[in-house]
Amino acid sequence: MNMTTIECLLYVLLISSLGSYAAAFTIRWPVKNHYLWRKEAHALLSLPFTTKEPEIVLKRRSQCMHCHQLLVWQDLIPIVSYLLLKGRCRACKKRICYRYPVIESLHLACCLPLLWLTDDIYQLVLQTIVISSLITSAAIDLEHQLLPDECTVLVLACALLWHLSTNTLHTSVLGMLIGFSLIYALRQLYLVVKKCEGIGLGDAKLIAALGAWLGLSNLSALLLCASLSGILYTMLLSRNGSKPMAFGPFLIFSALLVFYL
Ligand SMILES: [Zn+2]
Repeated sequence: MNMTTIECLLYVLLISSLGSYAAAFTIRWPVKNHYLWRKEAHALLSLPFTTKEPEIVLKRRSQCMHCHQLLVWQDLIPIVSYLLLKGRCRACKKRICYRYPVIESLHLACCLPLLWLTDDIYQLVLQTIVISSLITSAAIDLEHQLLPDECTVLVLACALLWHLSTNTLHTSVLGMLIGFSLIYALRQLYLVVKKCEGIGLGDAKLIAALGAWLGLSNLSALLLCASLSGILYTMLLSRNGSKPMAFGPFLIFSALLVFYL
């Protein structure tokens, strides 16, 4: 896509800011949902629930996690502020969470190639939202073994809109339906045979969204790559093979690999 230098710099600023928002989302989403689940469970059991909504969910402005000092604009420039502050809070000098520079850098690394691969601004916006949502999902799944429906739905909607604009909607819908059915059937089979959950429902929904994004023709490559990387990780790096592990990051890593290759 032909873009001027100013437009490219604006895009860099946009995706690094999106990375900052995604990093904040990976902290707030699990806290908020844990609170809501507890509230719902108490309501179902007709038990009193007096816990206040966590401060991290209510707060409007960004602040230091340790001393709660409100951050000024100089502290909020993605990656640059972290480097200038040497990873420490301006006020209390305690360490700033490394997830911010990591997620912002991942956004830059995974979204910048889109400048050369997409044909117009519409496709660029849709693909950027897809990739940002996938990085956010992977970070949350890695930490909490949960895949947020908000991110999966966003990936699915943008994927369908993108295929609609390129007249390839049929392959997208087939990828979504077959991907979901396959993993859902495997999940049910595992439940019947082993009497426990082997694959989370979030993984089945994520595969539906990834199938819609990559299309039916890339579904087998996605599943093969995700399975192989998962097996390799378990064999080489995982210390405890019997411990449940998040499959979402492997699916997302493989989807990005298939998309770019
Ligand atoms: Zn501080």
